[in-house]
Amino acid sequence: AKTLGSNQICRYTEGMDEDNRNRAVLAIDLRAAIAGNQLEIYYQPQNDTRTREIVGFEALVRWNHPSLGTISPGLFIPIAERNGLILDIGDYVLRQACRDAASWPERYTVAVNVAPYQLTQADLPARVSEVLGETGLDPRRLEIELTESGLIEDRNRALSTITRLRELGVTVAMDDFGTGYSSLALLQNFPFDKIKIDRSFVQSVGEKPQSAAIVRATLLIAESLGIPVLAEGVETEEELSFLREQGCPTVQGFLFGRPMPLASAQVLMLRDGLH
Ligand code: C2E
Ligand code: CA
Ligand code: CA
Ligand code: CA
Repeated sequence: AKTLGSNQICRYTEGMDEDNRNRAVLAIDLRAAIAGNQLEIYYQPQNDTRTREIVGFEALVRWNHPSLGTISPGLFIPIAERNGLILDIGDYVLRQACRDAASWPERYTVAVNVAPYQLTQADLPARVSEVLGETGLDPRRLEIELTESGLIEDRNRALSTITRLRELGVTVAMDDFGTGYSSLALLQNFPFDKIKIDRSFVQSVGEKPQSAAIVRATLLIAESLGIPVLAEGVETEEELSFLREQGCPTVQGFLFGRPMPLASAQVLMLRDGLH
């Protein structure tokens, strides 16, 4: 966040501490970003642990700021959550990701993150349905990723939204599994189609016996529930081997590819298709 301070920024936000000032400035610029096509979706491949083939891509938004360069979603999504702009961003990402994926070979899925605030909107399933109709994307190729914070605030609303999405034929995945306060309770109470094991566990399976144990246990639970798993943040062949040996079907991580612009993802699909 240190790179965001310019003299201009400092002048009209004098008196705020640096973090608040950065947030205030980004909040102002974000409105323009949505209108001015500064948001871009990057795609990160998801791969089969046995065949190494690509099975799908996660859509990850980037902000190409005219003077600050590329801003990561970790920085601006929380701001957008607080000022409501997440609804516009969410609509944009959903529509663009579905539009892009509709032109890919049919075997590839696309995963879209839905923020907690979006999940409180009663019309979310209707919007998803509208976008599917408009883009012609097969609902079975769309995955919606949800995090814990979106599920605990209004449980009944979340449950009915998830149910509606599943009725549309969309896959609903639990993101960042294991990092929240109630991962197991959520698994018990919501009908997820998929679990994404958080990268904080995956990245230390080689060094920490605890992480390996947690990953193994999660895979066992998921198997008992009949829910497929994707392990996030796989960076090394050792991590991949461990996951494959433990029966984890799919992974995502820098080992197979970083999030990349659409055109690069399409090149990857072409190469993947030649195998
Ligand atoms: P996430 O949903 O958990 O997405 C995965 C993040 O892990 C991505 O960061 C990705 O670049 C990173 N990652 C993937 N593989 C590896 C790896 O092997 N090693 C390491 N160190 N990192 C890896 P990114 O793109 O910066 O996104 C950060 C977060 O911002 C996402 O976490 C998600 O919570 C949020 N986000 C991104 N795009 C969207 C969006 O369109 N809508 C919403 N609501 N949130 C989004
Ligand atoms: Ca995600
Ligand atoms: Ca995640
Ligand atoms: Ca590691």
